[in-house]
Amino acid sequence: MEDAASILESVAPAENKPKLRIFLCAPRGFCAGVVRAIDAVEQALRIYGAPVYVRHEIVHNKYVVEGLKAKGAVFVEELDEIPDTTKPVIFSAHGVPKSVPAEAEARHIFALDATCPLVTKVHREAELHYKRGRQVVLVGHAGHPEVVGTLGQLPKGSIHLVQTPEDVEKLENVNEDNLAYVTQTTLSIDDTRSMVDALTRRFPNIIGPHKEDICYATTNRQEAVKRISPIVDAMIVVGSSNSSNSQRLKEVAERSGCKLARLVLRAEDVDWELFKNASSVGITAGASAPEVLVEEIMDAFAQRFELDVEIVSTADESVFFPLPRQLRPSIVSDSTDLPGSEEHIGVHGK
Ligand code: SF4
Repeated sequence: MEDAASILESVAPAENKPKLRIFLCAPRGFCAGVVRAIDAVEQALRIYGAPVYVRHEIVHNKYVVEGLKAKGAVFVEELDEIPDTTKPVIFSAHGVPKSVPAEAEARHIFALDATCPLVTKVHREAELHYKRGRQVVLVGHAGHPEVVGTLGQLPKGSIHLVQTPEDVEKLENVNEDNLAYVTQTTLSIDDTRSMVDALTRRFPNIIGPHKEDICYATTNRQEAVKRISPIVDAMIVVGSSNSSNSQRLKEVAERSGCKLARLVLRAEDVDWELFKNASSVGITAGASAPEVLVEEIMDAFAQRFELDVEIVSTADESVFFPLPRQLRPSIVSDSTDLPGSEEHIGVHGK
């Protein structure tokens, strides 16, 4: 169990420094889907050796990606960048359109799917609606890989992307009485509520998920930020600029009354001039940001301020997702003939 004293132990001692209260959000940082995806790459490297190919950043964090590259992971954006190989190719946590596993199969690629199970759940929902004859509206951000993946579960014309309430008003060629919606998992809870309101206003018979598609990790991190934002002078969100859930945390902080919110990847990205008059700062981290980067930023604050750290916890998380089946230790030890395995491909003279 984390406590403020143990966090402070690791930071520099105070000597004539201005005082600063830090409110540390809990939960923050890695979610179960991100842990599973990173573990999948590491486990594949252990079993099959480098290189292991990964389609798209396994999770949206440059520090994580660089760390995996150093261990032998090779990141590509599309399968056509990968030579013919027996090495595994891992699909990122964001999910992929159906065309990607189809292409992998056609090329006899040994594919491992690290799509977060909560994204897969949305894919299955969309598919089920389609099988039941419904058109599907997807609420999400154009171009985000998760949205590309979800759109790619259904044939063109049967799924429509909406990003704003205006998009809902403009929707054309939809069967109003046979319509359903799904959402991206990492949206702002409040924005999604207004999108769902817009959808149900225009299409009173639209069918939605029993419970929102926004995942537990996105919900919990946003709730913690909402609690802290009105009482701090500034908020730091640790995360990459291409991380959707990190961007949403920054927006939630601003909308909840925080005058200064910044998204930073590393301590070196903090503009210290902005914080020189702050007396309280909130810190959180997106679901793809490792705790080591939070500690790095805490250390950087401790070099400049005398810190008083308080942890503000709004939820306990115990979600765990097992590794993709082919990478689970019992499956690996039971099989000496896995595609791409050392025995199978005959590397290292075995
Ligand atoms: S943020 Fe949510 S949907 Fe995305 S990987 Fe984490 S648990 Fe899965």
